[in-house]
Amino acid sequence: MAISNEKEQNKYQSTRGGEKGLSSLEAVLKGISTDGGLFVPYYIEKEKYNDLKKLFLNNATDKVEATYEQVAFEIMKTFFTDLEEEELKVCIGRAYTDKFEVKVKNNFLELYHGPTCAFKDGALLFLPQLMTEARRKLNFQNEIVILTATSGDTGKAALEGFKDIAGLKVIVFYPKNGVSKIQEMQMRTQRGNNVDVVSIDGNFDDAQKGVKEIFNDKKFNEFIEKSGYSLSSANSINVGRLIPQIVYYFYGYFQMVNKGDISLDEKINIVVPTGNFGNILAAYYGKIMGLPINKLICASNENNVLTDFFETGVYDKRRELILTQSPSMDILVSSNLERLIYEVSGRNSEIVNNLMNDLQERSIYSIPTELKSKFTDFWGGYATEEEVYASIKKVYEEKNYVIDTHTAVAQVVYEKYKHNTGDTTVPLIASTASPFKFPESICKALGILQGEKDFALLDLLSEKCDLDIPDSLEELDKLPVLHSTECRKDEMRDTIKKLLNL
Ligand SMILES: *Cc1c(COP(=O)(O)O)cnc(C)c1O
Repeated sequence: MAISNEKEQNKYQSTRGGEKGLSSLEAVLKGISTDGGLFVPYYIEKEKYNDLKKLFLNNATDKVEATYEQVAFEIMKTFFTDLEEEELKVCIGRAYTDKFEVKVKNNFLELYHGPTCAFKDGALLFLPQLMTEARRKLNFQNEIVILTATSGDTGKAALEGFKDIAGLKVIVFYPKNGVSKIQEMQMRTQRGNNVDVVSIDGNFDDAQKGVKEIFNDKKFNEFIEKSGYSLSSANSINVGRLIPQIVYYFYGYFQMVNKGDISLDEKINIVVPTGNFGNILAAYYGKIMGLPINKLICASNENNVLTDFFETGVYDKRRELILTQSPSMDILVSSNLERLIYEVSGRNSEIVNNLMNDLQERSIYSIPTELKSKFTDFWGGYATEEEVYASIKKVYEEKNYVIDTHTAVAQVVYEKYKHNTGDTTVPLIASTASPFKFPESICKALGILQGEKDFALLDLLSEKCDLDIPDSLEELDKLPVLHSTECRKDEMRDTIKKLLNL
């Protein structure tokens, strides 16, 4: 294919080599490839940062003048080439305008000013718009059922994004004892005529594994298809999740330039609290696209599989999952790492297949020696629970600024990075959730907890720190519980059938 064709018609392929040549909308509707791999775009525009500068830099003021929607349009049009520009603009407007905002404060990239108070809104407000267009343009008859496994935040963000959208349904599975009270209430009170929420008797990895197995179960999918439904995914294995997340790294960088935190073209370090490796992978794509990034710092909690991976090249999930105060990162299998390995290996599906087979069969894999030196864009570290608490307190005392537990993991790891390497490059730290989503941990860290429980904690945090409770959380305890389905981890298929009346 000639370069101009690739640019005009970006195609998608599986990391495992079994499927290629899909249009972006086909890849988004399918969610995961039939060979078990993840879809990735064939073409990644390396000059995007320069293009954006040319478009939006005001030479008189040295400021980059672009709205979030404008940056989103410029980034996403290179990936979703089978949408007309006008269609893409409509999707972006419907997704974000008056619903989602990104701010930079104290070197934190605040990604939680959306309906569910966590960064996942950034992609999950957009994905249903994209899927609706995909159904229309591909003349897709079946109703699409989004199956989602959640460690807390994806579920709610998917429910909010997809609720009441015609032709789409959502079923969310969450681990019964693996999400916070607020997260659980957010999901169980969800309104909408096309949404279901199920708690499963297991942890997040059980839920994710169950969903993946269902996607790969040919017989079950045939049965579902015959009944007028098609399964798809809103987890970050869907490439339609990944791409919208690139946008805020560009937007955040430009905000830093405009505020004078950095000069134009100055390199920054990006620090991301990581679970499934989706959010940090989006930053890596940003780097490929020319965004001036020095290091990508991968921050884990005590489930530190990725820290070990970046240190040794060995991915070893043979350990107990630890339930931490940052539940959205309590993950042992970081699915999106597969996409990084694919890129770093020069898009070598054979290597990816071997490693993923090892993971499946032995729960461990080791990067081939010649590849080990190619992960130098990344630095991995982790934070203990005590360090997280101490960091929340320290940041509050020094900056009068409250961060949530996930963001604190990133803050701790950034401090370790600086200490270990002496690198003083300006950081941008992804702040992935509002502190009001995890109020008990935050109040405890700040030493203001006096036995308050659940919703009383919101008021406590609000009063002591002089912060407004986000509207969507403030009303939560007054909403009726609408979902109470439970299932064992070996019952997920039956539960889906029941919910679809099959
Ligand atoms: C999902 C989530 C993360 C982890 O993001 P990944 O893309 O899975 O790495 C971190 N923080 C919060 C608050 C989240 O909801």
